[in-house]
Amino acid sequence: MGLCFAAEKTLGKLAKWLRILGFDTLYEPDLPEGLFKDFEPERILLTRRHPIRQESTGHSHVVIRSDHYWEQLLEVVRAVGITAESIRPFSRCIRCNSAIGPAAKAGLQGKVPDYIWETHDVFRVCPGCRRIYWPGSHMEHGMGRIRSLFDG
Ligand SMILES: [Zn+2]
Repeated sequence: MGLCFAAEKTLGKLAKWLRILGFDTLYEPDLPEGLFKDFEPERILLTRRHPIRQESTGHSHVVIRSDHYWEQLLEVVRAVGITAESIRPFSRCIRCNSAIGPAAKAGLQGKVPDYIWETHDVFRVCPGCRRIYWPGSHMEHGMGRIRSLFDG
């Protein structure tokens, strides 16, 4: 298991972006707060509360200080030491956190918009929620913005 995270309920957009980068990130906004400590011990907790007593949870954690998701993402990148080489962009479902896999184009006709089916050859599907992905579907901003995380 590589780097993985569990994000507090106020950090939904940050959780989505960590999934876009390819990191296993639990985000369950309806989870009772007490369950936060029950995640796998290697999960890094992302919290806005300070301090979490590490000895009481057994987890590493990052206290997020910014109110803006992009600054929050930079905080995580710096605190944990994420490098450009360690990310796997667009390998994980942003909705349910499952690792997505290849899908045969032939089986997807009618399941994606016709113009998408006609103009794309590579599709992937989430085994968890069945969401279908194709290049460009994930992301309004693309690799340039992701690369900018690692410029500083
Ligand atoms: Zn999914």
